[in-house]
Order: sequence, then structure tokens, then C-alpha cells
Amino acid sequence: KPIGDRVELGDLPLRDDLRGRTPYGAPQLDVPVRLNTNENPYPPTPGLVEDVAKEVAAVAAELHRYPDRDAVALREDLAAYLSSATGVPLTAANLWAANGSNEILQQVLQAFGGPGRVALGFEPSYSMHPIIAAGTRTEWAPAPRREDFSLDVERAVEAIAGHSPDVLFVTSPNNPTGQSLPLDDLRALVEAAPGVVVVDEAYAEFSSRPSAVELLAEHPAKLVVSRTMSKAFAFAGGRLGYLAAAPAVVDALLLVRLPYHLSALTQAAARAALRHAPETLGSVAKLAAERDRVVAELSELGFSVVPSDANFVLFGWFTDTRAAWRSYVEHGVLIRDVGITGHLRVTVGTPEENDAFLAASKEVGR
Ligand code: PMP
Repeated sequence: KPIGDRVELGDLPLRDDLRGRTPYGAPQLDVPVRLNTNENPYPPTPGLVEDVAKEVAAVAAELHRYPDRDAVALREDLAAYLSSATGVPLTAANLWAANGSNEILQQVLQAFGGPGRVALGFEPSYSMHPIIAAGTRTEWAPAPRREDFSLDVERAVEAIAGHSPDVLFVTSPNNPTGQSLPLDDLRALVEAAPGVVVVDEAYAEFSSRPSAVELLAEHPAKLVVSRTMSKAFAFAGGRLGYLAAAPAVVDALLLVRLPYHLSALTQAAARAALRHAPETLGSVAKLAAERDRVVAELSELGFSVVPSDANFVLFGWFTDTRAAWRSYVEHGVLIRDVGITGHLRVTVGTPEENDAFLAASKEVGR
């Protein structure tokens, strides 16, 4: 038994606004097929592993020194990648990096949200947005999506006018529903927003739509585009998220970031992984094709499937979602109950994993 286990959470002088809240948590169970956290199922190539190991070994010789506080070389590499991916010329001054895009989002709310300020998001969406808002004491204003989970831009603009959010979250493609927004819709939302707009593009590489990065030149004082190496880049364990914005936004984040937040190991490993971007991102087309296969086969089995532009699929309808989720686990397949009535979310895996999921789908009761 650990020392101090007689003290319970309720005994601690926790902030009142955190009492009764639940932490973020996807159950991590040891089952054969894990399709619950939207990771890339393909492990790094041997060449990438070797390169990361070599670079990490090189910086290990200098671990007595703090890392580059501003991660300039890494930001240059990220700018080169994002410029080539979007066709928008970006420099290191437009890029900022942190330990996962969750930390990026937290820094944005530390700088632009906070007590007395409001953040708005269109639900259902990424559950960490309200949790990071709570952690930074930013008031959370949820606005609804349509019944089919698509975004009604006219209603969204009304919600923006009604709440006047200091920070607006737009997730495209949206997690956990999968739909992405065309550039004109994004532009309408940015124009309607009175404050900062964070377009969370964690799954952008899986989408054929243009990136919100294309709107940066039009709206440099508002727009922040958040990205991650956790999904398409198959680097979830490396923890590297980043954003593209005007240099002044980066100046704002320097006020709230912890010094040396990105370790020398992280910076070196991420740079090595970026050098292998072409081979890593080769999995994106494969995963998109597998996604379309999963969607087609689920539909054939009689499920209703939400159209997806990402590496996951939301589907239903289950009368007992919890029981259905458990039944998948009993069939050796871990997917995600994201708290949407009647629905579950499955991450697209390797063809073999998807086959196992589809086989289980035939057996699972609805
Ligand atoms: N945004 C969205 C929409 C996500 O789904 C996720 C991962 N689940 C993240 C951000 C955060 O990912 P990471 O911190 O690994 O970059």
C-alpha cells in the first residue's frame, strides 16, 4: 500500500471548480486489436528508428545542458514540412512546437483564455477542449452540431455572436465524428469570431480538403492552426504537436510556456522523424483506402456510418452502447465509447486489424 493512501481526493484543498470532474481517459486494455486512440497502426520504419536512435545518441552526450528553449531548428523543419504540405510559405517564426498538440492548446488557452474569458466549441468534438478550458479556468460554452454531426455554419455564426468567445475551437476533421469543413465555411467562422480561432487539424493529413493554413494571410491576428505528429506521422509516443500562426501569436505563447518545455531528446527525435516524412506519410493513402473499406462494409452490415475524412469512423446505432463496447472487447477488439448515445468510434488499423473488427461487428449485438 502506498504511503498516504488514507487521504482521498475530497480531503485535499482542491480548487472548487475542479471538484467532481473526471480526468481524460481512454481505457488502455491489453487486447489483441487496439483501435481506440486514433494512432497510426504502422510502426516506424527501420530506417527511421535507426535515424532517431543516432540523433538521440548524439544529443545524449550533451544532456548536462538545457535544450534550445525556442526549438528553432525543429520549427524550421516543421515550417518546411507544412509549407510543402499546404503550399503556403511559412518560416520558423510562424511555427511553435510543444509536447503534443494538447500542450499547444493549453498554451493557447493560458495566453488567450483564462478567468473571465470564454471558449466555444461545437459538440460533440474533442473532449480535451473543455478539459483544457477547465484547467485554465476558461469558461466553456458548448454549441451544438446538427443531428448528423455536421456543422451548420449559419447556426454556428449565431452561437459565436451569442457567446462572443475569446477563443473559438473548430476541429477539422472533427474528432470523434470525422467530418471536415471546406475552406469557405472555415473562413465564415473566422470572420464571425471576435477573438482567437483555433482550427484543430490533428487529422489534416487524412483529409483531402485544404488546410486552414491557407487563411493565415487573411486573418493573421486571429487564426491559429494546431497540428500534431501523433496521427499521420506515427509519432504519438514522441509527443510532438505544433501550430502555425502569425509570429505575434508565438510571442504570446512565450509568455506562458515553461522554459525548456521541449526536451533535447524530443527535439532531436522529432527532427529525425520529419526527415522520414515521405515514407511515413505513405501510410496515409493506405489508411484512407482502408477507412473507405471499413465504412462500406459497416454500411453493408446495416450500421449507420458517419462520413469520415479522418483515420477513424463513428458508427451506430446501438441500443446498449456500453454492452456493445464490452462485446467488442470480448471479441478481442478495443474501440472507443466516446459518450455519444448509440454510437462507437473505431480507429482504422491495418487490413488484418480491420478484418478482425469487421468480423466482430457481425457478432456484436445491437
Ligand atoms: N486534437 C484532436 C482533435 C485530437 O483528436 C487529439 C488526439 N486525440 C489531439 C488534439 C491531441 O493529440 P496530441 O497531444 O497527441 O498531439
